[in-house]
Amino acid sequence: MQTKFDTAQLADPGTAAAAAAIRGCVHCGFCTATCPTYVLLGNELDSPRGRIYLIKEMLENDALPSAPVVKHLDRCLSCLACETHCPSGVSYRRIIDKGRAYVEAQYRRPFADRALRALLAWVLPHHRRFRGALMLAALAQPLAGWFERIPGTRPLATLLSLNRAAKSLGREVSTRRGEESAPVRPAVTLRVGLAAGCVEPVLDPEIQQACVRLLQRAGCEIIRAKGEGCCGALSHHLGREAEALEMARATVDAWHRQLEAGPLAAIVVTASGCGPVIRDYGYMLRDDPRYAAKAVRVSALACDLSELLDRIGLPPTVDVPPTVVGYHAACSLQHGQRVAAAPSRLLANAGFEVREPKESHLCCGSAGVYNILQPDIAAQLGARKAQALGALTPDVIATGNIGCMVQIGAVSRVPVLHIAQLLDWATGGPEPGAMRRRPDAQQTIGEDQQGRVVS
Ligand code: SF4
Ligand code: SF4
Repeated sequence: MQTKFDTAQLADPGTAAAAAAIRGCVHCGFCTATCPTYVLLGNELDSPRGRIYLIKEMLENDALPSAPVVKHLDRCLSCLACETHCPSGVSYRRIIDKGRAYVEAQYRRPFADRALRALLAWVLPHHRRFRGALMLAALAQPLAGWFERIPGTRPLATLLSLNRAAKSLGREVSTRRGEESAPVRPAVTLRVGLAAGCVEPVLDPEIQQACVRLLQRAGCEIIRAKGEGCCGALSHHLGREAEALEMARATVDAWHRQLEAGPLAAIVVTASGCGPVIRDYGYMLRDDPRYAAKAVRVSALACDLSELLDRIGLPPTVDVPPTVVGYHAACSLQHGQRVAAAPSRLLANAGFEVREPKESHLCCGSAGVYNILQPDIAAQLGARKAQALGALTPDVIATGNIGCMVQIGAVSRVPVLHIAQLLDWATGGPEPGAMRRRPDAQQTIGEDQQGRVVS
């Protein structure tokens, strides 16, 4: 695609990166069919190609973002399915990231939108604030029905439903183990960092506990990085670049201190939504002389739990009851990090029967805080995904991202677990509490009171 950025505009590193990516686009439109918003809305401006045009026009002309342009950019899930399917290798993330940051800097959103975004950015990355917010949400739960009905307040209803959705994940852990009678602790062969995350440990602390047990059984020593907070992904997706960079620097510092104490084989991320951003620190901090090299080092070590296990091998498995697992590939994993086969392969090697849904490339609508900011589109995508997974008649749905767990868990009667919990169980860990409450495997698909598809 021809561009006409001038030298002054290209002096901005974000614009230069976006311009280079835009130039790679040959307008072929292969990406449109894989874009969830285009599939749902059928509007070219809600497709990757359409958004690339909108951002190009806006940046080239130094134009103030108009409300319609912002609407179409806000509807983008940043799922990056378009990147995976682009034959020209266009790095759409560089384009949308610049577009979002530009909108954030140049556009004055309506008050309610600004307030909601500020609230999300203030609360979610911080454990204590988020825990407090969940408690308040539980108290305010009776108001959710009102917010559902009052135009413009649906995001608040979604926010209030987070607490209910978190409870549905089934944190309770059974004390029942598999056949193994005593936990195996092989000699430690690898020193591995485990990223703490922000939202995940509050919504479902069992995920990291399962991950620790699993990795220890695989011969890893688990290292935590003191001072590590949110990786910055939530702020990044909101276009709040300065905030995201501050969080990235704090995370890099925290891991760098650990690296000075000794080498790490990997920094494992259990929330795949964080992975693409942590892996991108080297790029995000490339112009910061104090951080550029350190950030590259941290990015290079970051990997998804499934990647590390695929590399080092699963610990010996134990007998668990025959279980059909519907595997949902999180976009942040399959598109954002291009990790596609490892999770299913590990689950199959652990003895589960793994089934994958049709349209597995389509986003479930979670996408960070998208399900709060764009509740209507997110609900449609969530229902579509739950229906596709329900058609597999699984005993359990597994995925690698807490956001997807909450989004799908809100409309599915089949328990939704993180793959760490299933792999932990299959290698001698406790049976996840949610499994013991599982309904019959043969689920029917119906609708809940709000008309959303449940499976
Ligand atoms: S598939 Fe790639 S090259 Fe084709 S229109 Fe989409 S972004 Fe452009
Ligand atoms: S990131 Fe996802 S929603 Fe956004 S344009 Fe690409 S495919 Fe569509």
